[in-house]
Amino acid sequence: MEIIVPPREGRAIKVLCGQNIRITTPKGAQAADFFAYNAENLGEWLSANHTWVTTFCVRPRAGDEFLSRFRRPMLHFTEDGAEGVHDMMIAACDQFRYEFFGHKGPHASCSENLCVAMRRLGHQIDVIPQPVNFFTHTRVEADGRFVSPPNRVKPGAYVVLEALIDVICVVSSCPFDLAVDGWTINAAQGPSELIVEVN
Ligand SMILES: [Zn+2]
Repeated sequence: MEIIVPPREGRAIKVLCGQNIRITTPKGAQAADFFAYNAENLGEWLSANHTWVTTFCVRPRAGDEFLSRFRRPMLHFTEDGAEGVHDMMIAACDQFRYEFFGHKGPHASCSENLCVAMRRLGHQIDVIPQPVNFFTHTRVEADGRFVSPPNRVKPGAYVVLEALIDVICVVSSCPFDLAVDGWTINAAQGPSELIVEVN
């Protein structure tokens, strides 16, 4: 099964235990905010914080397991075709974030994309988990400063995850398009589509 996630939008997809989900940025440099829920209990979601405190790395690496907030393995990071350029620190963007940067009026966001995608499956989401941000370039400096250099993820970069339980995954093409000094997040020309494949 293949789904195109249009620029600035999100999609939810069920991935059964043992299946693989592959996420690709065909044009490159497009942040993919990733959320996952236990399909049997939406109160159990993938927690970036519980994951990195267990792997001792603030970036996910091939071979890592993504844990739920109950510290149970949900997905295995099987293959990294993006040279390790991922983030688990940046909260999902939301309307408040865009207003903080001076944007006037409604703006698409990963938080809203998550809620809309889950509503399409009949689920109401009240808490926005800390996402895993694939294809997002961040770095923690020696003095603790947190920076987001220009996104250098190449066209066609991808990740593959194997579901260790039945999960509902949500992938958002991050709509961030503001020219904020030091926080480019996506390609300079703006958000682009993502491809999600499940097999
Ligand atoms: Zn976003």
